[in-house]
Amino acid sequence: MTGPSHLDTRLRQSAAPETAQANDWTGWRDSDGVFWLYFDQAGSETNTLSEAVLGEFAHVLDRIAADPPQGLVIASAKPGGFIAGADVREFQAAESADAIREKVRRAHAVFDKLEGLPFPTVAMIHGYCMGGGLELALACRYRIAREDSALAFPEVMLGIYPGFGGTGRLTRLLPPLTAMEMMLSGRTWRARQARASGLVDAVTQDRHLADGAAAAALGRFRPRRRRSKMRALNICLQNSAALRPLLGWLLRRGVKKRVRSDHYPAPFALIDLWVRSGGHKSAMQRGEARDVPDLLTGAVAQNLIRVFFLRQRLKGLAKSDGGPVSHVHVIGAGTMGGDIAAWAARRGCTVTLEDREAKFIAPAMRRAGELFRRQLREPWRVRDALDRLIPDPAGRGVSEADLVIEAVPEKLDLKTSLFQRIEPRMKPDAILATNTSSLPLEELAQVLSRPERLIGLHFFNPVARMPLVEVVRGRQSGEAAYARALAFCHRADKLPLPTRSAPGFLVNRALMPYLLEAVTLLEEGHAAETIDQAALDYGMPMGPVELADTVGLDVCLSVADVLSGHFGGTVPARLRRLVEDGRLGRKSGQGFYSYRNGKPRKSRRAPAPPGDMAHRLLNPLVETCRTCVEEGIVEDADMADAGLIFGAGYAPFRGGPLHDIAERRREASGRE
Ligand code: NAD
Repeated sequence: MTGPSHLDTRLRQSAAPETAQANDWTGWRDSDGVFWLYFDQAGSETNTLSEAVLGEFAHVLDRIAADPPQGLVIASAKPGGFIAGADVREFQAAESADAIREKVRRAHAVFDKLEGLPFPTVAMIHGYCMGGGLELALACRYRIAREDSALAFPEVMLGIYPGFGGTGRLTRLLPPLTAMEMMLSGRTWRARQARASGLVDAVTQDRHLADGAAAAALGRFRPRRRRSKMRALNICLQNSAALRPLLGWLLRRGVKKRVRSDHYPAPFALIDLWVRSGGHKSAMQRGEARDVPDLLTGAVAQNLIRVFFLRQRLKGLAKSDGGPVSHVHVIGAGTMGGDIAAWAARRGCTVTLEDREAKFIAPAMRRAGELFRRQLREPWRVRDALDRLIPDPAGRGVSEADLVIEAVPEKLDLKTSLFQRIEPRMKPDAILATNTSSLPLEELAQVLSRPERLIGLHFFNPVARMPLVEVVRGRQSGEAAYARALAFCHRADKLPLPTRSAPGFLVNRALMPYLLEAVTLLEEGHAAETIDQAALDYGMPMGPVELADTVGLDVCLSVADVLSGHFGGTVPARLRRLVEDGRLGRKSGQGFYSYRNGKPRKSRRAPAPPGDMAHRLLNPLVETCRTCVEEGIVEDADMADAGLIFGAGYAPFRGGPLHDIAERRREASGRE
């Protein structure tokens, strides 16, 4: 992505900027009297609205207002985008809710000042425009966006809601149901969707962006009726006191399908605020100043902010200089290989997909087509992705690929004979990755003439939805292979978790004792529904009994056997019996539950779980994470938490298994 091409020429128009004392804001007046104010946060790749930046912005606005221009254009000098939001690092600082409340009020005053300027104000947007950045844009009279713009309010994902006046401004600009959906989901809107809904006034190509912004600032641009009569009527009606309670009920019902209010209070607080004060700017701001600081200093938001930084840490690892991966060759077009190949093609790699015969590749191609249509939507993008994914039963792609990934069945001799066959044909600098779940890399590498090129890339099922990949290093894995594997994760937009080669790596090794504890509880006579409910109450995305059925009881048993073979422990007899009886879980229609149309039949009469059941279930998982840290399987406790959150969906609002237990112990010792 590049910055706006007009930037250099506009900046060179005048020698002396008018905002001499500002660090991050630089502005020039052009010959038409338009003031061009550029945000270029010092020492950062991205613009964020820290407290200092907002303070400076307020001064700059005062100076501009003292000698009013014809109009004001606010833009970003960063190539990547406009403004990424408030500075999340400041959210972590241990401040009292009252101190944060003051900051929120100051931000309200700054954005009100911008909104109240007596000349046209224009947000000229390119790239990302998120959170507080979008709130700033909403305080401008016009928003002109470049085609690549992506706009969102991601605050709910951090356990809060927009707090710089955005809740009131958005629900008065768009029909409140649309506005609330945007804030409640955190979803990103592309420029065209933003234009169609009325969030931005115009979308243009890069070469017209500055001219469009200048025209708007000079009052010469007449955006096509910003609010059609229908939209204005809708905004008015939906904001009316008569309709808000009913619409609030509908919104609450929708959110409850996704999250629980005791786990994620922010979306519910936002709905309550709008139902109480919808349409009234100052009342909405008062609500923001009341709720957001309380939410922000609560455990849920602090844990979600922690998860944000864990994600950043893993993303940072993926930015390695391991060399490009343009061509990937995948061997084994089954559940995993087929989906890995589709995902790599969707992310822009050329992919050749090999299996024993063409007939084994066909189902993977069909699934890939469905994925591309669902995610890429536009026919030309779907077609391009399909063109990049090439069925290759003869395995010709091996000699062209930068990365070869094997995903054939979990059998040592099958994988090693495959390696012997392909290694001589690989490019000298290409790397070889295995998707094995349990086989030691050192054993697999024994047949290679260059064992240093073998690395593990352990994807999770379903590949398109699970963000984590365990990047597994055996003792023989070389630095170059490791760096290139990380570079591939970056290209594939996956979060790499560096892991040392050991049975089950981190995620499966930690999950299995949790699943086995659930089977032990079943053997003790607890109902499956009760056990699953305990985990759901804690915040897991699915109960362990249903999870075991979904993974497949045969798969669970074989992983449990491998792990207990290495680390000791017993595999519950009930699991073995079910597998012997052919009750393999969801796929066979019978497991711990019986299934109808792929859905478990659960009794509603099962007793509620006793208070300590969740912790009994989770303790073995926590202990295993701790052992993995001690053994150096992952670098530290944060990495173990990240692995379980991104690889197994461990309740994000708890901050991870090791973090949660440490917090609970701290609280308990505080009580004593
Ligand atoms: P699968 O049985 O669905 O697919 C394996 C594919 O390999 C089949 O299409 C088969 O035809 C093909 N194959 C077999 N021999 C071959 C050969 N000599 N040359 C080319 N293709 C050959 O298996 P899967 O579930 O995709 O698992 C593959 C690997 O991924 C295993 O190592 C497994 O442990 C690992 N894994 C699986 C999961 C999961 O949830 N299924 C998750 C992570 C890792």
